[in-house]
Amino acid sequence: MRPGFKKAAIYAAVISAAIGAEIAILHLCFDREDEEAPQAMCWPVMGTVAQMTSRKHVDELEFGELYARVQASYSRVEKLLSAWNPESELSRLSAAGCTNWTEAASPEVRPCYKAALRLAEESGGAFNPRIGEKLRALGMGRGRYSRFDLGAIAKGFAVDMAAEEVERAMGGRYFSFLLDLGGNLRAVGAGEWRTGVRNPFRGVDASQPDICAVIMLLGGESVATSGNYERFVEKDGKRLSHILDGRTGEHVSGIAGVTVVTPREYGATLADGLSTTLFVMGPEAGAAFLKRFYPLALALWIPDDPASPRIIVTPDMAYRLERIEWPAEKTR
Ligand code: AMP
Ligand code: MG
Repeated sequence: MRPGFKKAAIYAAVISAAIGAEIAILHLCFDREDEEAPQAMCWPVMGTVAQMTSRKHVDELEFGELYARVQASYSRVEKLLSAWNPESELSRLSAAGCTNWTEAASPEVRPCYKAALRLAEESGGAFNPRIGEKLRALGMGRGRYSRFDLGAIAKGFAVDMAAEEVERAMGGRYFSFLLDLGGNLRAVGAGEWRTGVRNPFRGVDASQPDICAVIMLLGGESVATSGNYERFVEKDGKRLSHILDGRTGEHVSGIAGVTVVTPREYGATLADGLSTTLFVMGPEAGAAFLKRFYPLALALWIPDDPASPRIIVTPDMAYRLERIEWPAEKTR
C-alpha cells in the first residue's frame, strides 16, 4: 500500500470505530504503481466515511481548498436529505405531510428526488423511496424522521455534486481525483483507477481473500456497491438485509452484494440507485432491466452462497474485471 493510502486507511478505520457499525467501506482502492504518491483526506459525514484522493500531486493549499469545497458540498446535501436528522428539509417536508416532493424540495436537490422517483417507476416499485414507513415498522427506522427515504441514492447524488465542484475549480487543467462516499465512488478528471470489491464472506471465513474482484474504472465513471454484510438487522439470530423489496416490503435474500459501474452521463446518483435496485431484482430480471433502461451500466452480483462463492456479471462488466477470485457466470 502506498503511503497516502495507508494514512487514509488508518483514518478510515479510526473514524469507523468512532462512529460505530453503521458503516460500509465496500471498496478498497489501489493506485497504479507508476504514479506519484497520492494525497488523500478522510472524514465522517452522512453516517459514513468520505474519502477524497488526488493521484497527481496538487499544491497543498489547493488540495485543502478543494477538500473544503467537497466537505461543504456533502454537508449541504446531508442537511437537506438526511432522514436521520429531524431538522433536515426532507424530515420537515415529511412532517408537513408533503406529497409532491420534487416541487417542494430545494432546487439543488431536486435532481435526486427526480432520479429516485424515476427509478421507482421504471423498476415497477422494486426501488421504492416511499419505504420509510415500512422500515420504521420493521424496527429499522429508529431515529428515522421521514416517510420518504433517499438512503439508497443520496450518497451517490452527493458525490455527483462534489464532482461538479472539483471540475469547476480545476477548470481545464489535468487532474485525477477519486471521490468515495461510503462505497459510492466517482473518478473525477482523467486517469483510470482500480477498485477492489470486498469479499462479502470474509466476515464468516477469514481464510477467504479480502477482495473478490478488481474493477477498472475510467475517468468520469462511477461505481457503487450495495451489500448485506456491513449493514444488516438481526432477528431471531438471523441476519436480514437492510434492503427491502419495494414491491412487497420483505427483506431481500439470496444476494450478498451488487456492484454497478456507470458512465459519466449516468453519474454516481444512478450507480447508487441502481445498485440498490439490482440488489432487489437479482441477476436475471436486473440484467433485463438494465438492457431496457440503462444499457450503458455494468453490473456484478454475488449470490449469498458462501459454500460456493461465485460472481454473476453482465457481458460488458466481464471486460472490466482485472482479477476475479471466483468462477464467473454471464447474464444474457
Ligand atoms: P444502499 O446501501 O445504497 O443499497 O441503500 C440501502 C438503503 O436504502 C437502506 O438502508 C434503506 O434506507 C433504503 N432502502 C432499502 N430498501 C429500499 C428499496 N427497495 N428502495 C429504495 N430504498 C431502499
Ligand atoms: Mg444505493
